[in-house]
Amino acid sequence: MKFKTNGLILKQQNIGERDKLVWILTQSHGILRAFARGAKNIKSPKCAGTGLLSYSALSVFEGRDSYSVDEAVSIEQFTGLQRDIEKLALAQYFSELCLNLCPVGQEADEQLRLMLNSLYILANDKRPRAQVKVCFEMRLIAMSGYMPDLVMCAGCGEYETPEMVFVPHTGKLFCSACAERQGVQGVRLPAAAVTALRHAVYADADKLFSFVLKEELWEPLSLASEQYVAYMTQKDYPTLQFYKSMGNRE
Ligand SMILES: [Zn+2]
Repeated sequence: MKFKTNGLILKQQNIGERDKLVWILTQSHGILRAFARGAKNIKSPKCAGTGLLSYSALSVFEGRDSYSVDEAVSIEQFTGLQRDIEKLALAQYFSELCLNLCPVGQEADEQLRLMLNSLYILANDKRPRAQVKVCFEMRLIAMSGYMPDLVMCAGCGEYETPEMVFVPHTGKLFCSACAERQGVQGVRLPAAAVTALRHAVYADADKLFSFVLKEELWEPLSLASEQYVAYMTQKDYPTLQFYKSMGNRE
């Protein structure tokens, strides 16, 4: 059976001289692992269409126990990422999160749109890198069923205090008084960073990246969101460690 869908190439592995195995985040089938025969031939349109981080129009053949890409035409290649090692490292972390969190065998339109928007903003410097990271992490993890509870202090119900404490292993928020009283450990966030964290989780998709934050607040916020993702998924991400090894603390 053959079907058409659009998808983003998240990972690739060479097979012999001519062929590739690719992991694709598709609109219709979520994460799809497929063979791409002859895709290493640079004269084949499939070569660009199955390249890393290419968003492509695909024609896929579904065999008895594997998929193969018959045609792949690149729609967008995010060249701004390929030219910058730090942006590329962050994009690879996003890909690793998608591979770990996106559905397999069911539609993933929302996740694909989030990933494409994030890559576009990252590639074209439309927002600070830390903002793309925090928004992507918090939104993808929330979509994946791990919704944090950021509405109010989990101890006393206060909506906002000058500083609050976010607890990455539970996704709960405490005002500083309750955190101290209950001995809660977590990431301390000034009110503006709490507002930004709430925005990343609760804002409409088309407004996701529409906010500004003082530069010095990105570091604690980014720490809060990456720790939340790591705790919820019970996993360390080598791609994130690599990104941070280049001196990116946020
Ligand atoms: Zn409280």
